[in-house]
Amino acid sequence: MRAKKMVLSGLVLLVVFSGVAEDKNTNTIDALLYSNGKPVSVKISGDKISKVTALKSNAKTPQMYVAPGLIDIQINGYMGVDFADQDLTLEGIRKATRALWKEGVTTYLPTLITADRKSLKNSFSILSHALADAEIGPSIPGFHLEGPFISPEKGFRGAHLEKYIRKPEWNEFAELQLAAKNKIKLITVAPEIDGAVPFIQNCSREGVIVSLGHHNGNAEQIEKAVDAGATLSTHLGNGCANMIDRHNNPIWPQLSEDRLSVTIIADGFHLNKQEVRTFYKAKGIDRTILVSDALDLAGLEPGEYTRWERTVLLTPDVVKFPAENVLAGAAAPINTGISNIMKFTGCSLGDAIQMASTNPAKILQLNDRGEISPGKRADMILFTIENGKMVIQKTILGGKVVYEK
Ligand SMILES: [Zn+2]
Repeated sequence: MRAKKMVLSGLVLLVVFSGVAEDKNTNTIDALLYSNGKPVSVKISGDKISKVTALKSNAKTPQMYVAPGLIDIQINGYMGVDFADQDLTLEGIRKATRALWKEGVTTYLPTLITADRKSLKNSFSILSHALADAEIGPSIPGFHLEGPFISPEKGFRGAHLEKYIRKPEWNEFAELQLAAKNKIKLITVAPEIDGAVPFIQNCSREGVIVSLGHHNGNAEQIEKAVDAGATLSTHLGNGCANMIDRHNNPIWPQLSEDRLSVTIIADGFHLNKQEVRTFYKAKGIDRTILVSDALDLAGLEPGEYTRWERTVLLTPDVVKFPAENVLAGAAAPINTGISNIMKFTGCSLGDAIQMASTNPAKILQLNDRGEISPGKRADMILFTIENGKMVIQKTILGGKVVYEK
């Protein structure tokens, strides 16, 4: 019909073209809403969600779920791309980002762990090129710096190299922030080290979210850090020694502190089922956040690889040091955590996605995403649940399809 009109006159042509342009920018998705399983129609206009309407019960029932895109605030690399690689390129970051879209992640914070000052500065200046990149920039709102101001104690420092762990110094952080174009959004620090409290105060003043992690802080030190502005605990239950005092350890004060949200790695290996259930019960749905904490090996074929001059074994779920049979790092994308936390706690799909999208958006103050509601950026995933696992069928970023199975 439009083609017919187009031959009629120039005036009609103009009208028709504007109509076509609008069609291109407006899209409708019919699916089951993740939070209640009911069929909805989500209208996308430009890069935003413009309308969410319940579908009539006699409408053809859609076969897929729709949810807000997943948000991973702790991830070290993906698909063999290590965000800390000193030779990292923008193309490498694009490769990792595209692979994450396949897993339903529409927003993430590339995360750097403890390293020397020069390397961190270099890494942030490379990573900062991604921020304004037309293709992947919308997925990268900033960065997470995990360290270097953490506990040097064995067990608590985890895989962080002791020789690079140091005391907080505001000048150094300011220098890194400059290299990162002011986009270090989240920093993990230990509350008990010298200078932690004023450092946390400075971060809060500058709008940097402070998370407590890789530490052996006692109840008083944790309380002081929270008073100073810390609002989060990094991968609670990990970055902690195997042997701790049953009364006085860093876990109870963080679990019992209502002002702290927690991130957890629910890959089924970093925490057991009972730990996940207990943390979830203590913190509740609103203060539990899922992270992958994935290493760069995540997404690759299982097998042996060399990392940190050692042989590591990538299984479909996790990275191990095969000689000692101990964990070397996480390898499961955040959607695995969604399936696991439902299994471990009995929470609903809606609750699990809240912990992997809405909550991380809130803690980072990314008010334009993390929900399926009018005015939010159209970051969405369409997925099915097969054998208890999420299978991503389509990923939409700012209204554009960036992955389709
Ligand atoms: Zn860690």
